[in-house]
Amino acid sequence: MSEFRAVVAREVPGDPKPKQVVAIERLTDADLPEGDVLVDVHFSCLNYKDGMALTGKNRIIRSYPMVPGVDYAGTVAESGSDRFSVGDRVILTGWGVGERYWGGYSQRQRTRSDWLVHCPDQMTTLQAMGIGTAGLTAMMCVIALEEGGLTPSSGPVLVTGAAGGVGSVAVAILAHLGFEVHAVTGRPEQETYLRSLGASGVVTRAEMTEPPKPLESETWAGAVDTVGSVMLAKVLAQTKYDGVVAACGLAGGADLPTSVMPFILRNVRLQGVDSVMAPLPVRERAWARLATDLPAGMLDAMVEVVPLERLLDIGPEIIAGQVRGRVVVDPNL
Ligand code: NDP
Repeated sequence: MSEFRAVVAREVPGDPKPKQVVAIERLTDADLPEGDVLVDVHFSCLNYKDGMALTGKNRIIRSYPMVPGVDYAGTVAESGSDRFSVGDRVILTGWGVGERYWGGYSQRQRTRSDWLVHCPDQMTTLQAMGIGTAGLTAMMCVIALEEGGLTPSSGPVLVTGAAGGVGSVAVAILAHLGFEVHAVTGRPEQETYLRSLGASGVVTRAEMTEPPKPLESETWAGAVDTVGSVMLAKVLAQTKYDGVVAACGLAGGADLPTSVMPFILRNVRLQGVDSVMAPLPVRERAWARLATDLPAGMLDAMVEVVPLERLLDIGPEIIAGQVRGRVVVDPNL
């Protein structure tokens, strides 16, 4: 491939401060950063962080020019690594790619082999990006609940921000594993969608953002929280004795206005989950579980595929909480 297309974010002079402009440009291999593996990118995807990068929110991009896209999957075109051969199907998620290092909104990308995992045999690269960082994080949250001792017989579990990317995948996996899943959403029109993923019940965002008492009625055996702030405090106050809550997101805010009561009187465990810097064995385990515990039909139901051009519009939509499920980006469309 002599020339290829990529989304490039650049900083240009502005008044009173520099501003970010994002456009599709033509690049060559010589423009790509250093690394021991060159990847023909089949697919990337859209995560909340990508929305921040595309819109310039929170200055998530650490250096310019930057090719955003925190995830990608494709085949190895050139390899200087013992772990990968030309033609291998690979997945990259996290590690600061799309923020500090060039990412997946490109037909081709060069990277470090120690950031790549092999795409599981049972999974296409399209499915891998239907999952992406959001799905990997959801799987890691489910593993955290299991490691905390939760089983389907422990009782109902709650997923917050359920119509979003992490939430949708968490609902589908937990339902497939036999849990009774209740989904919190601020979009009542997504109830049919959430039930199609396996949710048994839907709880309104308004109900879950009422400031909680230190302890409320014991309702949930566990939860996957993607929202943070008052919602996470509410979830903790409603968690049953010995329950486990996996917290991975801040869609509603980075604060946590809670008390120690759920921890000291109900033995509740709050487990943080980070997929971005997760070590390789943790990732490999989670991808292997995703290959078996996320039904392909469920994934298809939550995925929309878009070309690079659509990113310029859809970036603000994910920040506004208007994107449902997962958006896969096909740079070759
Ligand atoms: P999405 O935007 O796809 O989903 C977030 C969902 O949260 C929305 O769809 C909406 O769900 C809900 N939501 C949005 N705004 C609010 C609000 N103000 N109050 C309450 N609920 C709200 O994002 P992702 O699923 O990709 O990511 C979710 C969170 O997880 C983000 O904060 C992201 O940064 C974080 N994350 C963390 C990772 C980690 O490694 N720890 C990795 C990946 C993501 P609904 O419409 O159903 O209410």
